[in-house]
Amino acid sequence: MTALVLVEHEAGTPAETSLQAVALARGLGPGPGLDALVIGADGGGAAALLGAHGVTTVHVAEHDGLGAFAPDAWARVVVDLAERIGASSVVAAATERGNDVIARAAARVDEPFAANVVAVAGGGPWTLTRVRWGGSLLEEARLDAGRALLTVQPHAVAAADAGGPAAAVEPFTPPLDAADLAVHVTERVGTPAGGVSLADAKVVVSAGRGAGSAEGFAGVEELAALLGGAVGCSRAVTIAGWRPHTDQVGQTGTKIAPDLYVACGISGATQHMAGCRGAKAILAINTDPEAPILSGADYAVIGDLHEVVPAICAEIRKARPT
Ligand SMILES: Cc1cc2nc3c(=O)[nH]c(=O)nc-3n(C[C@H](O)[C@H](O)[C@H](O)COP(=O)(O)OP(=O)(O)OC[C@H]3O[C@@H](n4cnc5c(N)ncnc54)[C@H](O)[C@@H]3O)c2cc1C
Repeated sequence: MTALVLVEHEAGTPAETSLQAVALARGLGPGPGLDALVIGADGGGAAALLGAHGVTTVHVAEHDGLGAFAPDAWARVVVDLAERIGASSVVAAATERGNDVIARAAARVDEPFAANVVAVAGGGPWTLTRVRWGGSLLEEARLDAGRALLTVQPHAVAAADAGGPAAAVEPFTPPLDAADLAVHVTERVGTPAGGVSLADAKVVVSAGRGAGSAEGFAGVEELAALLGGAVGCSRAVTIAGWRPHTDQVGQTGTKIAPDLYVACGISGATQHMAGCRGAKAILAINTDPEAPILSGADYAVIGDLHEVVPAICAEIRKARPT
């Protein structure tokens, strides 16, 4: 009953969302097998941390064509390896990349694919709980399949360091052809030097339509900088062209799990909350005491963000030694 987890990594450091997927996979049925697949020669560096999280073997796929993300190639590698090791389930994080790859893998083998899973029991058929409709409902489902193909909702399952020994590393070169590599990433545009990414920030300060304009983000940017955080926004803002889509938090934007989320002039639509529900604490700043976001917030200030945010910035500056 081996479970195979597709682990995303940056130069051998596994993504937190992939460690969460490993934690869910550990609960998948009896048996000693918990294998991981990392793509790219530098993935072997993940063996120690993955071993601590319960992985016994890390399969490292090395191929000249895998230098850039190529979803069909990744899907082929996943399918072939799952077949070779006899994996009863394949698990990945429900990131853009994880969902893309596992959906393509499912299409290749004509099996069902369950995305955004938060809990699983059984071992074929499996009983799943998964997030639907942007987080507004949890679905209980039964999965009948030869092999379970799952992705795990980010920040819904805690990663768990079990203190295990380093995993064994097994490099291999997968067979790939030109068709597998036809779709691939040609360019990556990073965050500005020194900037913290929205997905990883411990503090995110967001604004919505209440900011009023692109210029209305000045206070929000200042507060984010003072707190060492990132700036986010709602979809109303990206549609208005005030901020780029990379700043959008929500169902069709980035899903975040910071220690603190400050939501200024954001009403709290379901699709927005789907992206920030993982925050440990939410502070809402809104002129409307009836705004829906208040029911999901831990703290609230009823007031105009153009007055409240500069006042918070001033207090922070005052409290800091010069
Ligand atoms: C398929 C689909 C996917 C979507 N995906 C996303 C998504 O990923 N992310 C997302 O955000 N939305 C998403 N949406 C849109 C979502 O439904 C809402 O329309 C959007 O979140 C509203 O943005 P908002 O809260 O900024 O604006 P509004 O709903 O207009 O709210 C503005 C808020 O600002 C307050 N306000 C106004 N002036 C001030 C002021 N001066 N100071 C303080 N408060 C003030 C108001 O009281 C109000 O609560 C999606 C919708 C659909 C249909």
